[in-house]
Amino acid sequence: MIVAQRKSIPDLLEIIKNHKKILVLGCGTCVTVCLAGGQREVGIIASALRMAAKLKDLPLEVEELTIERQCDNVFIEQAAEAIERNDAVLSFGCGAGVQAVAERYTSKPVYAGLDTAFIGILEERGVWTEKCAACGACVLHQYGGICPVTRCAKHMLNGPCSSSREDRCEVDPKRQCAWQLIYKRLKEIGQLDRLKETKPPKNRRLGQDGGYRTIIREDHRI
Ligand code: SF4
Ligand code: SF4
Repeated sequence: MIVAQRKSIPDLLEIIKNHKKILVLGCGTCVTVCLAGGQREVGIIASALRMAAKLKDLPLEVEELTIERQCDNVFIEQAAEAIERNDAVLSFGCGAGVQAVAERYTSKPVYAGLDTAFIGILEERGVWTEKCAACGACVLHQYGGICPVTRCAKHMLNGPCSSSREDRCEVDPKRQCAWQLIYKRLKEIGQLDRLKETKPPKNRRLGQDGGYRTIIREDHRI
């Protein structure tokens, strides 16, 4: 899932300072799961904004709404009336959701209430970890399902870097060396031979170096 975290209340107040009627718009998908922008968080943030505005004697009205997905026009449509009756939208979707709403309602300011961080998983209660950098050419099959691009501090495709200590990464000893994990997993599944192959550098053009990326499925186009 996409993992994000909320901006601070002072930062949010600064972002919306020129508006009197704000729609706090939540998203019911990834950011709900990572406890950043779902219905519950939107309720808490809206209350906090109302309270902060009252304390500062600001004339701020805050409406709250959460839709299923902000990155999908089918669901964005459900927010049309609420967006119409407010001066601006403070979106608690991920960066894609914020931009999808802004592209749909071009006459309304749409602001990001979250800092979108990474693609990851819930590691333990309250702890999310990055697992994928969306490199555009997945090589997980070569590394026992452990991503060296994301999890090795030096992004080494032909590791390890020779500086790991025990099973710790030299860059951050609090973390396990990704290459120790890769070795262990490949051994467990009987694929250590994969380490004998020298992997070529990744094709950077499949990443973000050429600007934003697009996937076109001709079989789904009309
Ligand atoms: S190899 Fe690329 S696509 Fe696959 S998990 Fe790693 S960053 Fe993500
Ligand atoms: S110690 Fe391991 S995880 Fe850290 S940079 Fe070196 S190979 Fe990568």
